Amino acid sequence: AKERGKGRHAVYDARLEQDQAADAQLGAELRRALDHGDFTLVYQPIVALPDGRWTSLETLVRWKHAERGFIGPDVFIPIAERTGLIVPLGDWILRTALRQAADWQERFGTAAPGEIGVNVSARQLREPGFAADVRAALADSGFDPEKLVVEVTETAVFDGGVALDTLQNLVTLGVKVALDDFGTGHSSLGLLRTCPADTLKVDKSFVDGIGGRSEEAVIATAMIQITNGLHLQAIAEGVETAEQAETLYRLGYRFAQGYHFSRPLSAEQVDEQLRAHRPL
Ligand code: C2E
Ligand code: CA
Ligand code: CA
Ligand code: CA
Repeated sequence: AKERGKGRHAVYDARLEQDQAADAQLGAELRRALDHGDFTLVYQPIVALPDGRWTSLETLVRWKHAERGFIGPDVFIPIAERTGLIVPLGDWILRTALRQAADWQERFGTAAPGEIGVNVSARQLREPGFAADVRAALADSGFDPEKLVVEVTETAVFDGGVALDTLQNLVTLGVKVALDDFGTGHSSLGLLRTCPADTLKVDKSFVDGIGGRSEEAVIATAMIQITNGLHLQAIAEGVETAEQAETLYRLGYRFAQGYHFSRPLSAEQVDEQLRAHRPL
């Protein structure tokens, strides 16, 4: 039995080393992609219910790979986190999004969505200089701090400490905080007392179950009651059908996001939409 245990351990070690080697290789590729300008941003509208008016745009990153085409963030963000590349990549994302948002604001005024959302990973929140970097990026862009929404997962802030201090510093700057994928991570309702969040983004998994009598439907209903009671804003994520949107509205949801309203759009596509809707 001892031999077998040892053997298993060796296999595990080999796999771990292989994974680390694969990480290092992909990490280097990500570094080159950042240097070569191979990342791009898309923007998905967050809308008011029931009219579908745009209130905000969430920034989502894409990797334009020479051979493999567009690669989604689910594939490379975890590697960027493990290798630390998320720190310079995240800075590029934030600065690009702020510059873009300032540009839309300047050209379209009140017709431009009021807010821009940027996803921030746990690793970024643990960087001691992160809040100062955000302050500098805001100053350079000239964008109003109160219109920046930083999206963080519950898991990233669950362990408290530096991450929570950083969020507090961001709030002092005037930046808003949204808890992303709410209900899927290391949730604790107690977190809502310690985390300075303005908004809960209710995860797609609850929206999917909303029509029936599933546990998800019960949770989605409870969540809107909690957010209303705590004066937090709730955004329902991953809304794919008109029926879901109607049910959410009936339950009390006033903000939503999902393919039913719009897919993530390139900056050019956002431009077209804003031009089409600009009041004369
Ligand atoms: P997320 O922050 O929860 O973003 C929502 C994801 O759901 C996006 O996928 C979006 O395209 C997708 N989505 C939106 N509406 C619908 C819908 O109706 N149906 C379905 N099936 N999906 C929908 P995406 O862009 O692939 O991003 C995946 C995750 O990668 C994000 O989840 C976020 O955790 C991470 N991510 C994306 N961009 C960034 C970034 O700039 N920085 C960091 N740190 N993470 C990012
Ligand atoms: Ca998000
Ligand atoms: Ca989410
Ligand atoms: Ca997600």
